[in-house]
Amino acid sequence: MTDSPEFDSELHRTALAQLDRVAARLALDSDIHERLRFPRRALVVSVPIRMDRGDTEVFIGYRVHHNTALGPTKGGLRYDLGVNLGEVTALAMLMSWKCALMGLPYGGAKGGVRCNPRELSPRELEHLTRRYTTEIIHMIGPDLDIPAPDLGTDEQTMAWMMDTYSMTQGKSVPGVVTGKPIIVGGSAGRREATGRGIVFVLYQAAKSLGQELRGKKIVVQGFGNVGSVAARLLWNDGCTIAGISDVKGGVWNPAGLDVRQLQDHVTQTGSVVGFPGAEPVTNEAILEQPCDVLIPAAVDSVIHARNADRIKALIVAEAANGPTTPEADVILRDHGVTVIPDILCNAGGVVVSYFEWVQGLQYYFWKESEIIARLQEIMARSFTSVWRTAQKSGVDLRTGALMEGISRVADAHVSRGLYP
Ligand code: NAD
Repeated sequence: MTDSPEFDSELHRTALAQLDRVAARLALDSDIHERLRFPRRALVVSVPIRMDRGDTEVFIGYRVHHNTALGPTKGGLRYDLGVNLGEVTALAMLMSWKCALMGLPYGGAKGGVRCNPRELSPRELEHLTRRYTTEIIHMIGPDLDIPAPDLGTDEQTMAWMMDTYSMTQGKSVPGVVTGKPIIVGGSAGRREATGRGIVFVLYQAAKSLGQELRGKKIVVQGFGNVGSVAARLLWNDGCTIAGISDVKGGVWNPAGLDVRQLQDHVTQTGSVVGFPGAEPVTNEAILEQPCDVLIPAAVDSVIHARNADRIKALIVAEAANGPTTPEADVILRDHGVTVIPDILCNAGGVVVSYFEWVQGLQYYFWKESEIIARLQEIMARSFTSVWRTAQKSGVDLRTGALMEGISRVADAHVSRGLYP
């Protein structure tokens, strides 16, 4: 196998180790396996911004297309200080498996800018987004690569990207991004899609384990788009949300937190920290609290070899991308913890992004109830299929999900052949 030191990062090593392990299990053709280990193309850009204080700061941005065998590429845009080429490349690879697993006609991509979005003003964020979009303009388009929100980006970021791309084309092109505001071609239900998809998958997992989800004790790390929606929907459905954290710290109350009041507290103060009637808890300790379901919904590699044996949850629902390292995976499996892998668990976002893209291309928009019903069907079907594959092959759910996703991408390569 060829080495790829330029993409090296902890998450990329994890993604490669997963691919290599599953390729061996699938007895994948070695030429196809070799091709899947590399992104199709990767772009590094510098993004100079005039800051509010008057000087110019240069940020580094990336856009990586991992694979295009199944169609145009799809993947989020991340604004975070941890962004680097290796991380973005690994996340693009995971997107390839995720889109294939969910039966979507997409390859995987990812983008990012290394910055702390919380320290940038709205004007700086807008300029950063527009300049970044211009720098990667030849890599994106409705039938080429379609970005979406991820860590540190949101609907507003997508609206600026869409507007910037549209300006260069001389016409409105809603299909260039998903996760846009509804007023400019976004889809009903997209904002909640990832969190809602997690809840659908959890219902299916509880059913397969012969349990009832209602009344279960839940801990959520990360209270952003994904974590807050998952927490609210589970709370609405009668679960006890015992712990929640964000980048500043966490709060814990085994009797249950009132998620609506917590949301109001976050709106007023900017953090879950200091929520009345709950004990403070660190971001490390929150993962180890006694609960039935742990939902890491923030950043990668938070469950690792040093804390995995202290995880007390029965189910880990991977809302974040790559929250569990391969070493931790083995420890959790040995302890009987069911891990619902990221490429299945958090795929609701890309599924509804696909609905948004289809609606945008047709200029015909569906009702929210239709979107929720179709999302539920796809999430339940995918979970059941992965569960069966895992049972049949005697493997965990991550391996089952990767086997399905990777084999579909490999099949597309076999069918298309190698150009020229
Ligand atoms: P977000 O920016 O809306 O929220 C992130 C949350 O995590 C915030 O509460 C933030 O305070 C917290 N956080 C950030 N760094 C942290 C740290 N080091 N420790 C603890 N908490 C931290 O992001 P999001 O869109 O909710 O994405 C969260 C995760 O879900 C990411 O891993 C992302 O890749 C994944 N994901 C998102 C989507 C989507 O549709 N937004 C889809 C699939 C997967």
